Amino acid sequence: MSALEVSGLRKSFGGVVALDGIDVAMDLGEILGIVGPNGSGKTTLFNVISGALRPTAGRVTWLGKEISGHPPHQIARSGLVRTFQQAMSFQALSVRENVRIASEHGGRGAPSAVPPEELLSFVGLAGREEEIAGSMPFGNLRRLGLALALAARPRLLLLDEPAAGLNDGETEDLADIIVRLPRLGLGVCLIDHDMNLIASICSRLVVLDFGTKIAEGPPAGVLQDRKVMEVYLGTPA
Ligand code: ADP
Ligand code: MG
Repeated sequence: MSALEVSGLRKSFGGVVALDGIDVAMDLGEILGIVGPNGSGKTTLFNVISGALRPTAGRVTWLGKEISGHPPHQIARSGLVRTFQQAMSFQALSVRENVRIASEHGGRGAPSAVPPEELLSFVGLAGREEEIAGSMPFGNLRRLGLALALAARPRLLLLDEPAAGLNDGETEDLADIIVRLPRLGLGVCLIDHDMNLIASICSRLVVLDFGTKIAEGPPAGVLQDRKVMEVYLGTPA
């Protein structure tokens, strides 16, 4: 059994079928990439896994227990922690205060993969404890977002487009941080549009299109897949 198992997951919004029977399994210690065009259901998948939305059908099993329909805070406390497409921090508070608040809302009993006092240096923000979050440049705000997610003591992190809006250098810096997480025993499930980022750091990819899984496997193979190329290039290979 895998740490996270999603089976037969469906989610409809009125007539829109955002997820049309998705099966995904992943283990701690791996980086799984979720890719697919806009509107293919990636964020909805995270919303259902993290408890923000109830599935229409199907289930989510985490560490051997079914969690479908559980409240988001309970799921987060069990070590399944997500980030959002927008940077999530208290803009008016200092970096230090943000980390303190995130730590207080973290998992109970789970060991911390990164000790709280090392969080800021882990994400490259050492020495910036007193800076006001809202006054930091965007790249640093993203690093802070990652520190806050880690402060919640995840065992598996769901990262929704962590590199959106970052330049190439900032994206590389972020990738360098993310690739260290599996070595600490964390699982990472990553949504992104940046194929270079995805292909360079993910051990496995799942490709969604119109709420269905059209391909799955190591990046090299998936990116050569005929259906995937059609979706991304709009032409049959
Ligand atoms: P992605 O993250 O891959 O871009 P989403 O999961 O955000 O895609 O959206 C998948 C589909 O579900 C889209 O057609 C989107 O318009 C629809 N959708 C997502 N969230 C909602 C919602 N809360 N209410 C209605 N429709 C939604
Ligand atoms: Mg999305």
